[in-house]
Amino acid sequence: MKAGFLITAALALTVAVLPGQTYDTLIRHGRVVDGSGNPAFYADLGLLNGRIAFIGNHPPGTAKSEIDATGLVIAPGFIDVHTHADDIADMPRGENFVRMGVTTIVVGNCGSSRLDVAKFFAEIEKGNVALNVATLVGQNSVREKAMGGSFDRPPTEPEMSKMKELVAQAMKDGTVGLSTGLIYLPGTFSKTDEIIELAKAASTYDGIYTSHMRHEDERIYEALDEVFRIAREAHMRAEVSHIKLSGPSCWGQAERVLAYIEKARAEGLDITQDQYAYTASSTGISQLIPDSAREGGHARFLERLADPEQKAKIAAAMKKSLLSKGRKDFSYAVIAYYRHDKSLNGMSIVQAAKAKRGADTLDDQVQTILEIEKNGGASGVFHGMSEDDLKVFMQHPNTMVACDSGVRKFGEGVPHPRGYGDNARVLGRYVRELKVLRLQDAIRKMTSLPANTFHFRERGELREGYWADIVLFDSEKVTDTATYEEPHHYPEGIPYVLVNGTLVINKGQDTGAKAGQALRGQAALRIAPN
Ligand SMILES: [Zn+2]
Repeated sequence: MKAGFLITAALALTVAVLPGQTYDTLIRHGRVVDGSGNPAFYADLGLLNGRIAFIGNHPPGTAKSEIDATGLVIAPGFIDVHTHADDIADMPRGENFVRMGVTTIVVGNCGSSRLDVAKFFAEIEKGNVALNVATLVGQNSVREKAMGGSFDRPPTEPEMSKMKELVAQAMKDGTVGLSTGLIYLPGTFSKTDEIIELAKAASTYDGIYTSHMRHEDERIYEALDEVFRIAREAHMRAEVSHIKLSGPSCWGQAERVLAYIEKARAEGLDITQDQYAYTASSTGISQLIPDSAREGGHARFLERLADPEQKAKIAAAMKKSLLSKGRKDFSYAVIAYYRHDKSLNGMSIVQAAKAKRGADTLDDQVQTILEIEKNGGASGVFHGMSEDDLKVFMQHPNTMVACDSGVRKFGEGVPHPRGYGDNARVLGRYVRELKVLRLQDAIRKMTSLPANTFHFRERGELREGYWADIVLFDSEKVTDTATYEEPHHYPEGIPYVLVNGTLVINKGQDTGAKAGQALRGQAALRIAPN
């Protein structure tokens, strides 16, 4: 009843429609999957002033424009809580996102974010971004700023207060929480206590804690323990980012991992997770090199490489780490984008070693990786998961769909296809073809689950009074067409996407419309003068 009252109130305030009054847009004859997890029903939608003004049969009025949704599913626009589109203000179309039905993104993940959040939102609000944008504040960025580099030591007291101040300011400016990326420099050098202090600064302002955990292999349980401890001691909800089991030696444990999370939830902790629908991950090739070799920055890394004894130690550690995960070589690691030598883009490390050194022994592979890092590094695609685990994670009711991609520059490099295809792949491969999920459950994972978890009010469901973020797709045809070899392809079967009531994709074409909003966290909304 309470929810119903709120909706009626919102409707009365913003989008009251009298009989005979004109809507901006009517969407007719579609099959509505409303995002709640409930099954589909047939209805028309009337949109006015960026919101949904009517859902039902025989809308009382006419419209300036109509969309015939015959044969299409009408769903809430997809909300992707795990992206790396921090440069969205520079590439404001975000076409790889909107073309797969994503109308809201969260940036600032894996510990890396802008710190000038007020300025960031001002850029978004210049009115040129195609989709809605929210951001987290990243612990790596905070630590780097406060400590002046990527150092393997605890912060001093003044550095610690500086970090807390940076997090609190970002939260007041509208971030939705704190993210960590604990395999990356310098976050990887932080002890749990340090993170808890920062998490408290975020939880004061209703923030969520999201984490790219320290381990995604057989040590995942200790990494989860750390997430649970942070959630418990900072009194906040927590999200496990891009949940996965990486490396053949830990495959087959997805059910055990979920049971481990369920135990924490039974204790009262609010733990959720997100996932992309691919068995390869993507990050820097630098992740194949031990942190200790890269500690302190690039100049120090080069110094260590120049010392034959240290270089030999680094190489030995890389081989040991590879073999310990049940692998024989680096063929699972593929170069996505290497600015220094683009001819290697799309090649595995084994192929790159052969191309550059004329030989592909394990030593040559290691030398190739070190050479790449020496020349500024490269992004990579890592084939490391089992699809059976992926399906088990996907079926859990608290797993949301999130692509972990940045804004793609069309045609550049050979990046992970997830940035072009993730949502379409879930709807095509995992709903229609493999029947891993029911359609309404898949939609819920892309809409109301992320909206409720990240506290985006009046989004994530199709309801009267809610913002009109809407995607129309053909459930029989929707397909991801981006592959590992040829990733620069948009999905098929998603003809219409609306952001805040405005068409950004119309009959499959980008309209150039700029209807995105800056989505500030609840704390900032309460602080802001009205
Ligand atoms: Zn990550």
